[in-house]
Amino acid sequence: MNVPVDSLSDLVVERVGFGIFVLDRDMNVLMWNRFMQDHSGLTPDQVVGRSLYTHFPELPRVWLSRKIESVFQLGSFAFSSWEQRPYLFKFDHDRPITGGVDFMQQDCTFMPLMREREVVAVCVTISDVTHVSIVQREREEAVAKLQEYADRDGLTGIANRRFFEARLRDEYTRWQRYGGDMSVLLFDLDHFKKINDQFGHGVGDTVLRVMAQRVAEVVRAQDTFGRFGGEEFALLLPCTPLEDAMRVAEKIRCTIADTPVEVQGTCVPVTASVGGASARVGVPSYDVLINEADAALYSAKRQGRNRSVAFV
Ligand code: GH3
Ligand code: MG
Ligand code: MG
Repeated sequence: MNVPVDSLSDLVVERVGFGIFVLDRDMNVLMWNRFMQDHSGLTPDQVVGRSLYTHFPELPRVWLSRKIESVFQLGSFAFSSWEQRPYLFKFDHDRPITGGVDFMQQDCTFMPLMREREVVAVCVTISDVTHVSIVQREREEAVAKLQEYADRDGLTGIANRRFFEARLRDEYTRWQRYGGDMSVLLFDLDHFKKINDQFGHGVGDTVLRVMAQRVAEVVRAQDTFGRFGGEEFALLLPCTPLEDAMRVAEKIRCTIADTPVEVQGTCVPVTASVGGASARVGVPSYDVLINEADAALYSAKRQGRNRSVAFV
């Protein structure tokens, strides 16, 4: 059987699974393959011989004309990825309704068609990359969610120690560079072991969760509140001198002590001791600040608990 190569390549262009069309320098369409017909609903008869913008006035005219002109001038390929421009043509995609993806996502190639070293036309190909974009979006969402989990404490949902220390380190660096104020508070629940012993570990967990929630509601948005250890919490207060930080410490101490936590019909009274410290000249690093807050906390415990003490 002898099929002419010309008609074979016509068949390929017709059946291939991506869009192919050809433009002259005035943006007139010279060729329009089946993929373009199927997705636009326009036959070659309707499109060929006219400006592409006749049937597609919504195309990004300035951008597209410039792209085509550059291929004519330079004689080299040009590309556009869905990540830069999600689509050129508003074609439906064949995916089930998917959040965020309204139209078929497209990668475009602009290929110079040369005759005797001159560009005579530009061939544009359109690839349907909707599935790639969906997988990519899902991956990005999953990574963001993992990131969120990685920064949170599993029991209480507030920042975990790793995230807290990273924020503290950043804030400390900012303070070293720009000066101003910053303070840290450490809280430790009083005689928590007794709560566990008396009411059980499950109740202890609930108390920790409720306490964290209660305190999270009274701290400012710019502060970072984290779980530092078992029944120990920390609050980073940027732009806050020690005096103001100790006022916050008292507010939080009262938030904890004033209302017992009710768990399964039982009232569990809880108190906390607080230690506070502030960045000053001579404090060489953020962990020294933590040690100072810890020393103040220890002092609050020694003085009888349910109180806040500043490091001096
Ligand atoms: P103090 O007033 O001196 O702080 O006394 P305390 O009993 O709170 O101190 P200690 O550090 O001896 O005990 C802390 C207790 O906190 C012991 C531990 O079982 C409990 N704890 C730590 N993490 C958790 C947790 O995730 N859930 C529960 N239920 N208990 C915890
Ligand atoms: Mg403790
Ligand atoms: Mg304790």
